Amino acid sequence: MDSRAHLMELPTRVLIGEGVINQLGNFIKGSAGRKRVVVASGPRVHSKVRSLVEASVKARIDWVDVDAPDMTNVRRVMGRAAGAGCVVGIGGGKSVDVGKLAAFRKNLDFYSVPTSASHDGISSPFASIRGLDRPYSAKARPPVGILADVEVISSAPQRLLSAGCGDLVSKLTAVKDWQLAHRVTGEYYGGYAASLALMSAHVVVDGSRRIGRFDREGVRRLVEALISSGVAAGIAGSSRPCSGSEHLFSHYLDLVAPGVGLHGDKCGLGTIMMANLHRIDWRGVRDALLNVHSPVTAEGVGLGEDEVVEALVRASTIRPDRYTILSHRKLDRKAAESLASSTGVI
Ligand code: ZN
Repeated sequence: MDSRAHLMELPTRVLIGEGVINQLGNFIKGSAGRKRVVVASGPRVHSKVRSLVEASVKARIDWVDVDAPDMTNVRRVMGRAAGAGCVVGIGGGKSVDVGKLAAFRKNLDFYSVPTSASHDGISSPFASIRGLDRPYSAKARPPVGILADVEVISSAPQRLLSAGCGDLVSKLTAVKDWQLAHRVTGEYYGGYAASLALMSAHVVVDGSRRIGRFDREGVRRLVEALISSGVAAGIAGSSRPCSGSEHLFSHYLDLVAPGVGLHGDKCGLGTIMMANLHRIDWRGVRDALLNVHSPVTAEGVGLGEDEVVEALVRASTIRPDRYTILSHRKLDRKAAESLASSTGVI
């Protein structure tokens, strides 16, 4: 096979709009048929959504409560997969990630039904699961279909939507890192996937005031941008256009300060600093994050100054195969402190 060949995997159908949750039954019919449907959903998915799903899906539903994005939950979903027509993940990040990996391992179609818009995992081929052999996302397959009900997502807590904006601005530095790696190591670079990821970031950077109102129109723009960002990863065949040094920074913090801060918030913080290292407009990133009510300081995310500095120094070690500005510049403690303080993060 051509060594430069790579596989592009994309969602087949996306249904987005207000009240579309009522159409879930029809949406998944091609995969479900008359078979049972396994639905992974979180405890926060309230009863109203559950009853709408039950009214719409005619097939028998096997609800699996997902309480953490870990392998125990993935195995629980896999345990129900025999004889099922498809897996549906309904909820914030956890249920979608767990359902996606379980469906992939059981070779079943997966449908993503986000109830918040906090990261681009709603459409990407990757799943963030704890307890795997590495602290970053695992490759799975993109959802066959994504059903995004703007009415449901608009009622999510605002901090989750702000986090989605943080995950989107991070494409600015992820793409810079990808270009750098291409120059230095000769790694494959896909201009189309990169442009698509950048367009998603610019939805937030250029329209932050509009999105920051988080009304239905703002939420719709946010969700569409998150979906196309995940699609960019599908086109690239890797997480490269969506995940660079700012994501390594966030993943490192997941290890040293588990449970502190949302993924998108930590990525947003990382983007401010990595943008400075890449000499792009880090102040513009910071202003956009402020407009969408995202934290721009370590304290705002709940992190200590030391944790941020350590993450800047050590983040590149958790994924040595991913060449980024942090591998290029190799910050020592002093340089890391200076970067974090000059950008106002600490
Ligand atoms: Zn992300």
